[in-house]
Amino acid sequence: MRRAGCLLLALAMAALLGGCAPEEHAETIFAMDTVMTLQAWGPEAEDALVRAAQRINELDRTLSVVNEDSDVWAVNHSGGPVTVSEDTGALVALGLELWEETGGALNIAMYPVVRAWGFTTGEYRVVPEEERAALLARTDLGQLDYDPDSRTVTTPAGMELDLGSLGKGYAADQVTELLREAGVTSAILNLGGNVQTLGGQTDGSPWRIGVQDPQDLSAYLAVVEVTDGAVVTSGGYQRYFEEDGQVYWHIMDPSTGAPADSGLLSATIVGPSGARCDGLSTAAFVLGVEGTADLWRAAGDFEFLLVDEDGTIWISAGLEDRSALAAGYEDRRVEVVRP
Ligand code: AMP
Ligand code: MG
Repeated sequence: MRRAGCLLLALAMAALLGGCAPEEHAETIFAMDTVMTLQAWGPEAEDALVRAAQRINELDRTLSVVNEDSDVWAVNHSGGPVTVSEDTGALVALGLELWEETGGALNIAMYPVVRAWGFTTGEYRVVPEEERAALLARTDLGQLDYDPDSRTVTTPAGMELDLGSLGKGYAADQVTELLREAGVTSAILNLGGNVQTLGGQTDGSPWRIGVQDPQDLSAYLAVVEVTDGAVVTSGGYQRYFEEDGQVYWHIMDPSTGAPADSGLLSATIVGPSGARCDGLSTAAFVLGVEGTADLWRAAGDFEFLLVDEDGTIWISAGLEDRSALAAGYEDRRVEVVRP
């Protein structure tokens, strides 16, 4: 009798503990040229994560600039109107919107320039100025026509799109939505520099996202708190080559056709939408501190954390209470940018 009572008690406690700590599920995949980890909690998570991984692979195929079956490939090799998927259409529309908003710093037609420098092909080289000028003539997004009703993209001769600045953020939005619809209430996705969270941690507290130190990739220099949102970092350290002691990275300044030279080593954007944060982080890396601050004042729907080449950290005022320097970085100079 007594023994049975103990057993019942033990079972009840196990059930209670089980109820307190939902089971963790995880998937790791390689897509969009990076390692991605998806973690979600609760009984709905296991199946949903399998579908999430499938969805990311599908997006990778559709958006890839090097896959001959992709929408982007079709547009880049068309010389005429091309009807694209809903996903591609959404990203072309967002790209055009951000091109306007960022004064051209985000430009989804930079592919001829990106390729000339050797990114995506691996044949790295420093592109001389005359060649850059000729390539930039092919990047005037004012000449791209997108009809959202028929989802038709019409590009002028020589224009080639590259949605790499938006794709991971968009994938994170899509996966978050898929998980939410499946009933998942707590998840965190890390899609190579793009972190996105669904809800908070299982105990209800916000997620604490580390921001990588661009000068020491083994360390985090700050932590940002976020619930239901994206933390997206663009940095020169993520993809680059070196020649004659000089570093050339993958984010191009559309006004020069050369790697962005704004004085930043990394740009982190925090906000509700992964795709928008992704585009804005690429643009911020091009724009530098002043340009990003202007963008932030005008938009009012995101926050930023920028690391410049002196190591100074620039944060927008909205992050003051939601971020902290990591252990070992307490002495780092921080400048708060105000409205
Ligand atoms: P991200 O990692 O999101 O900052 O995006 C960088 C990628 O976007 C690069 O690898 C290029 O494929 C592409 N890219 C480079 N410069 C630009 C730019 N100024 N605007 C839009 N896309 C760019
Ligand atoms: Mg981006």
